[in-house]
Amino acid sequence: MNSQWIFLSGEFVRKEDAVISVYDHGFLYGDGVFEGLRVYSGNVFKLEEHLDRLYDSAKSIMLEVPYTKEEMTSIITGTVQRNQLESAYIRVVVSRGAGNLGLDPAACAEPRVVVIAEKLSMFPEELYDQGLRLGSVASRRNRPDVLSPQVKSLNYLNNILVKIEANQAGVDEALMLNDQGYVTEGSADNIFIVKNGTIYTPPVHLGALEGITRNTIIELAEEAGYKMKEQAFTRHDVFVADEVFLTGTAVEVIAAVDVDGRKIADGRPGEVTRHLRTLFKERVTTDGVQCYPDVTASKAA
Ligand code: PMP
Repeated sequence: MNSQWIFLSGEFVRKEDAVISVYDHGFLYGDGVFEGLRVYSGNVFKLEEHLDRLYDSAKSIMLEVPYTKEEMTSIITGTVQRNQLESAYIRVVVSRGAGNLGLDPAACAEPRVVVIAEKLSMFPEELYDQGLRLGSVASRRNRPDVLSPQVKSLNYLNNILVKIEANQAGVDEALMLNDQGYVTEGSADNIFIVKNGTIYTPPVHLGALEGITRNTIIELAEEAGYKMKEQAFTRHDVFVADEVFLTGTAVEVIAAVDVDGRKIADGRPGEVTRHLRTLFKERVTTDGVQCYPDVTASKAA
């Protein structure tokens, strides 16, 4: 079932009634922050980490989230419950709120908070089995000293533009480089490569969001005994990698089997990627903040 009830600044409203002022600076200027989370089997995965990132993003743009993290936890689990969802994607948005046509946020009275929970699969199921095509794009990742990639702001134009470039090029996802030509991330996902048994991912200071899935994969890889390195690499390193995969809350873990027309190894998702995807799937179903604690307790009893 898709979401019927949306949390909108203090109340649950039906999807068709969930509307925001055209004077909201989130709409007028992309002034606000957001998070994307997932609930698996009634458990919200890494809720605390997502809330930490949301509040850090908000702090960075001097936006005060009008709820405590405890309140936000209840709002998020409450939205899942209200829609009777077991497994779904959750979007949390905090916008600056309605102001006037000037861009000064001082004119905005109060932030608006929206929580949506609904089923979402980023790519068709067969791409998870086959792997996707990745293409590098001309647009560079935002420089950290201009608009930090760590701020998950409503200004996602940089990412949208690369998605347009990927669509134009006929590939499934974009590969973004930074202004020095080093690989950073995809349009909404982090990148890993595997070479001679070692797993590499770029350090986030090069211009990638510190993905929560990324951090989970690093943890799982280390627990499983893989050699894991955060190290800068270039397109060339991606072309000649044994495996390439992307991670993100929405995409989860997905292999890339073609990069700029270069087939990666034998053109099929590799062993390490498949192993980490399995470990990830296990971890997400056994970890997380419960949305239905009473049901779980009565099942256990
Ligand atoms: N990079 C960008 C630009 C993103 O928008 C996302 C999605 N939040 C990611 C990486 C992956 O982060 P996470 O694993 O926390 O979803």
